Amino acid sequence: MADGLTEAVAEARRRYAEANPRSRELAARAARVLPGGNTRSVLHVEPFAFRVVGADGAVLHDADGHDYVDLLGDYSAGLLGRGSTVAGVIRDVLDRGWSYGAMSEPETTFAEAVVARFPSIDQVRFTNSGTEANVMALMTARYATGRDKVVVFDHGYHGGPLYFGDAGAPLRIPFDYVVLPYNDIGAATRAFEQHGAELACVLVEPMQGSGGCIPGDPDFLAHLRALSTAVGAVLIFDEVMTLRLSVGGAQQLLGITPDMTTLGKYLGGGLSFGAFGGRADLMGTFDPARGGLSHAGTFNNNAFTMAVGAVVAADLVGAEALATVNERGDRLRAGLQARFDASPLPFCVTGWGSLLCVHPVASPAEIDEADVRWRDLFFHDVLDAGHYTAPRGMLALSMAVSDDDTGAFLEAVERFCERRAGLAA
Ligand code: PMP
Repeated sequence: MADGLTEAVAEARRRYAEANPRSRELAARAARVLPGGNTRSVLHVEPFAFRVVGADGAVLHDADGHDYVDLLGDYSAGLLGRGSTVAGVIRDVLDRGWSYGAMSEPETTFAEAVVARFPSIDQVRFTNSGTEANVMALMTARYATGRDKVVVFDHGYHGGPLYFGDAGAPLRIPFDYVVLPYNDIGAATRAFEQHGAELACVLVEPMQGSGGCIPGDPDFLAHLRALSTAVGAVLIFDEVMTLRLSVGGAQQLLGITPDMTTLGKYLGGGLSFGAFGGRADLMGTFDPARGGLSHAGTFNNNAFTMAVGAVVAADLVGAEALATVNERGDRLRAGLQARFDASPLPFCVTGWGSLLCVHPVASPAEIDEADVRWRDLFFHDVLDAGHYTAPRGMLALSMAVSDDDTGAFLEAVERFCERRAGLAA
């Protein structure tokens, strides 16, 4: 059946290319000045990525006149969809002016709201991205402990230069890493026995997002807390994606208090954003009045992100809104898994709340062996039916996605299962 699958993928790509002539032209033009016509690798699509010309609510409009229900939600940064409140805040900033090169009030309101949401965060600093936040947190931990070694996890993703899948190796920042298997208490215990006194920090996602939406085992994460405390290493939770799981992120649900936390994605309302924060003794090292560490960044407090972030964190996204979107995600995951279970296709669905990933393998343990052709076919088939997901199978529901939207997606997946059943090995 392997040839049948290859032919089905080729046919799906042909159909896509024919349906997107304008995007194909724009992609060819882009490829002259952007490598592969791309400036964010994860957005690459074979044979070329369609070009968006506009978006509203949960819908993307492309250059060839298609509308897609956006189930990807900008890889989780787009939690708010494209609401009028955020637009209004941006318009206010336009009226007031921007690019001050000075401090202003909204950053304090934003910081107060972040500190109120995360009891583990006494103080916070803003950055432009989650990547930067993680680099700063690692450097802070190395400085504070006077140690070099950094514990990270296989398949972890903390930004392009801090990616621990195989593909991340060439561009990885050369810290002194101890790379451990995720969710493996025994391996972590042994590594701490061996390296304990040299460990500056542990950098861990409570759920591996880019690694396939693999939730952390609560016992494993609690164990990392205990091991870090025992050797004096700084425990850093990368909540860039998981901060949407509750008002206080995954750490609130898990009842685990890290020493530092990194944030990003939705809290900036869809604008460039990142932040790192934590215990006052660690963050206090940045106090300029005390001759502290220098943390630079022209756009750290850019007027747009600060104003929008302040409103998002203080008012717009509370416990109820998050519970609604995360419960919708849980229902969708169960619905998808039920469709796959009823079909001969060996697919499984992982995730937590509103973050999901569809894998073309029978169980999460087999993800590394997934046949990428199935991913491609799934992506193109559901796109053709009007649903935009990540080519790697990820979905991040936004607050604009309705039960009708997820219901229509379930129907599209059911049709995919029926139509492609014959290709199952
Ligand atoms: N950490 C995690 C867990 C992420 O998912 C991401 C982005 N996908 C990052 C860090 C990097 O954030 P950014 O893309 O804003 O640099």
